[in-house]
Amino acid sequence: MELPYAEPYRIKMTEAIRTSTRKERERWIKDANYNLFMLPSEYVFIDLITDSGTGSQSDRQWSAMMLGDESYAGASSFYNLKNIVEKLFGFKYMLPTHQGRAAENVLFSALIKEGDVIPGNSHFDTTKGHIEYRRARAIDCTIDEAFDTQIEHPFKGNVNVAKLDAVLTEFGPERVPFVCLTVTNNTAGGQPVSMENIREVSKVCKKHGVPLLFDSARFAENAYFIRMREKGFEDKTIKQIVAGMYKHADMMTISAKKDGAVNIGGFAAMHDAELYRRASTFNIMFEGFLTYGGMSGRDMNALAVGLDENTEFEQLDARVRQVEYLGARLDEFGIPYQRPAGGHAIFVDAYKVLPNVPREEFVAQTLCIELYLEAGVRGVEIGALLADRDPVTRENRFPALELTRLAIPRRSYTNNHMDVVAVALKNIYDRRETITRGYKITAEAPIMRHFTVELEKA
Ligand SMILES: *Cc1c(COP(=O)(O)O)cnc(C)c1O
Repeated sequence: MELPYAEPYRIKMTEAIRTSTRKERERWIKDANYNLFMLPSEYVFIDLITDSGTGSQSDRQWSAMMLGDESYAGASSFYNLKNIVEKLFGFKYMLPTHQGRAAENVLFSALIKEGDVIPGNSHFDTTKGHIEYRRARAIDCTIDEAFDTQIEHPFKGNVNVAKLDAVLTEFGPERVPFVCLTVTNNTAGGQPVSMENIREVSKVCKKHGVPLLFDSARFAENAYFIRMREKGFEDKTIKQIVAGMYKHADMMTISAKKDGAVNIGGFAAMHDAELYRRASTFNIMFEGFLTYGGMSGRDMNALAVGLDENTEFEQLDARVRQVEYLGARLDEFGIPYQRPAGGHAIFVDAYKVLPNVPREEFVAQTLCIELYLEAGVRGVEIGALLADRDPVTRENRFPALELTRLAIPRRSYTNNHMDVVAVALKNIYDRRETITRGYKITAEAPIMRHFTVELEKA
C-alpha cells in the first residue's frame, strides 16, 4: 500500500481558539455592522480572512529573531535580507518597507504621474489604490479564461499579450511608467502566470521600452505551479524557477507577509541605480532610513530565513496540498469555486452558491456573513465592495465575479479545520433557496471602502 502524505514539519507550539454559539455570532456580526474586518478576532473560530502575516514561523525564524541587529544604520540584519534578495531575485538594490503597500507607495512615488496608465493582470486592491490615488489608471489585461470560474486552465493569471500590446501601442512609454505583473494573480483567484507568459510579457515591454514590475507577494507559489504544471520545469528547484522568472523583471514590490512567511514586512527592489536613488528619498520620508525602512532588525532576519525556507519545494507542496484538500471536500458537495484551486485560497463562486441574492445586495459579502453565522469561519469578500466605486462616475462597480475567499494561513490549521469549513458551506448551499436578501451600505470611505464599510440587512 502506498504511504499517505504527511506534512514535512511537526508542531512545537499551539494557540487556543474559542468556539461560540450562533446566537452569540448573530449579535457580534450585527455589532460589527456586518463587516468581518470589524470583528474582534476572539469572536472567530477559524480565521481565513487572509493568509497575510498570519502563518506560523519556523524554529529557525524565531531563533534568527534573537540575532536581530537593531542598529539604526548598517545593521547586519539588513545585509542578511539584502543578500538573500540578490541571490533569489537578482536585484542589487533593495529598500525595506513595513509591508507591501508601503513598497508600492515608495516606488510609485518615484514612478507614477497624473494621467499615467498601468496595465497588468488584475491589480491587487492596494496596488490599484496607489495607482488611482495618483490620478493614474490601472488597466486589466488578464486573459478572459480567468473570469469563468468553471474553466480549468493551468495559468489563469496570465496576461492577454495582444491586449497588453494594444494598450502599450495606444499610450506608449510616455504614459506607461511600467507594466505590473502580479505573481500569482491574487485577485483572479491566486492563479499563477506561466513562464512562457512571463517571457512574452517581457518581450512586449521591451518592444515598447516600458519597464516590467513584478508584484511579488506569492512569487514562490507561482514558481511551484510552474514546476507542477509547465512542461520543462519538472526537475528544476523552486529557487531555479524563481531566478528564471525574475530574470525578466526590472523591479519588484513585495508583501513579505505572504510567501516571505513573516508577520510583517515588505520591500521594493530594482536593478536601476538612478531609480533606487529617487525611491530612497521616499523610503526615508515614509518608512525609515535605508537599512531598516519599515522593519526592525529581528523582522528582517526572520524574513531572510523565511524567503530561504519558503522557496523549498516541500514547504510549498504541503501548503498547496492543504488548499487542494479543501477544494476536494467542496467538490464532494458540488460547491462551485474558482477552478483549479489557487495557491493560497479557495475562491467560492458566490453568484452560484447564492443565486437568489440580488447583485446590488453584495452577494459575496452575504456569503461571508452566512459562513460566519454558520460556523464562526471568517472569509473575505472579493466582489463589489472591494471593487469600490468608479473614480469618475462614482457608480458602484459590479465585477464579473463575486467571490468569497477562504485564505489559508501557512502551517496554522489542520485538515480537521478544513472539514468544518467545507461542511459549513455545504449547509449554506443546501438551503440556498431560502437566502434571498443581502445587505446595503450605510457608510463607506471614498477609497478601499471594504475595510471599514458599514452595512445593514437589505
Ligand atoms: C498583499 C498584497 C499586496 C499588499 O501588501 P500588504 O503587505 O498587505 O501591504 C500587494 N500586492 C499583492 C499581490 C498582495 O498579495
